[in-house]
Amino acid sequence: MRADVAQNWSETPVDELVRLSLEVTMLQARVTDLVGRIDADGWFEDAGYLSTAALLRDRVGVSATEASRQVGEARALRHHAGIAEAYSSAQIDRPRVAILLAASRVAPEAFDRDTRLLVDTVSGLSMKDSCRALDYWKQAADQSAAEFDAERSHARRRLHASVTLGGMVRIDGELDPAGGQTVLTALRSLTDPLQLDPDDTCTPAQRRADALVDICADHLTHTNTAVTGAFRPQVSVIVALEALEGGAAQPCEFDDGVVITPETARRIACDSSISRVIVRGESETLDVGRATRTVPAALRKALIIRDRHCRFAGCERPHRWCDAHHLQHWADGGSTNLDNLILLCRRHHRAVHEGRAELPRLE
Ligand SMILES: [Zn+2]
Ligand SMILES: [Zn+2]
Repeated sequence: MRADVAQNWSETPVDELVRLSLEVTMLQARVTDLVGRIDADGWFEDAGYLSTAALLRDRVGVSATEASRQVGEARALRHHAGIAEAYSSAQIDRPRVAILLAASRVAPEAFDRDTRLLVDTVSGLSMKDSCRALDYWKQAADQSAAEFDAERSHARRRLHASVTLGGMVRIDGELDPAGGQTVLTALRSLTDPLQLDPDDTCTPAQRRADALVDICADHLTHTNTAVTGAFRPQVSVIVALEALEGGAAQPCEFDDGVVITPETARRIACDSSISRVIVRGESETLDVGRATRTVPAALRKALIIRDRHCRFAGCERPHRWCDAHHLQHWADGGSTNLDNLILLCRRHHRAVHEGRAELPRLE
C-alpha cells in the first residue's frame, strides 16, 4: 500500500478535488477580507502606497483590472455581512459573490431584506440558473431598476474590428443578451455539426470564423439595403490583369492596401458579381467593364437551378452560400456561360483555388 493512500485511506482524488476547491474559496474570501481591511483602515498608506489597488499591483503582482475588481468587491462586501459570511464558509464561491453584489446594486433595500434567501438560493443552483434566479428577483424587487439594469447592459455593447499586421482582421466585442442571442443563433445555424461534411477537420473556432464571413458575404450579395448611390457595397480588389493571368509580383491588393496573393485575387475575381474588381496595368487603369466578367442575374439563376448546392464531392451547402466558379478562369480566356460555371461554397471555392483541390466531375 502506498504511503499517501495509507495516510488518507478514505480520500479519493475526487474527494480531494472537492475539499481543495472549498479551501481555495475560503482562502479567496480571506484575501478579500484582508483587502477590505487594508483599504478601510489605511494600511496601504502605512506601506507607502497611494491606494490599495496600487499596493495590490505592486506587491501581489495582479493586473490593474484585477486589482480594482478586488478592491471593489472587498468594499462592497463590508456592507454585506450576509454575503461575506457565506463566502468565508465557502457556502458560495467567488462568481456567485459577484452576481449577488451586482443584484444588490440594482435594488439595495430589497436586497438587504432578502439577502439570506438569495444566498441560500444561489448556493444550491448552477451558475446559469443562479443568474436567471437573480434576474427574476431583480424584476420582482424593482421593475424599473431591473429595466434600467438591462439598459445599462445594452449600453455596454461594443464591437471592435481592426486590420492587424499581415492583413489579419482582429474582432473583439461584447453584446447585450438579446443581440448576443441573435448572433449566436445565426452562427450556430451555419456550424451545426449535423450539416457538416464528416471529413471536415476544421476546429469549432474556425467554423465560427467561416460562419461569420459567410453571413457577411451573404449580406453583401443578397440584401437590397445599405445601397450607396446605385451600387451595393462590395469588397474591392485592385489587381493587375497580369496577376490574374498568373504573373507574380504584380499589384494585388484590397482597396485599403492589404496585399493578397494572386491566387486569392483569382478566386475573388472568379465570381465578379460578389466583388467589384478594378483591374489596372502597371501604369494605366484598364476599363473596369472591359476587364471584368460578371455573372448576370439570369445566368446565376440558371446555374442555381442546375446545381442547387455546392458541387464539391460530398458537400451540400445551399446556393445562398456559394460562389459561381469559372472552370476555366475568365482571365485565361474562359467564357462566362453555364457550361463553364459551377456552384462552389466559399470553403470549397477556396480549396479549389488556393488549396489546388481537385474539382468534382460534372455529369
Ligand atoms: Zn473560382
Ligand atoms: Zn462546398
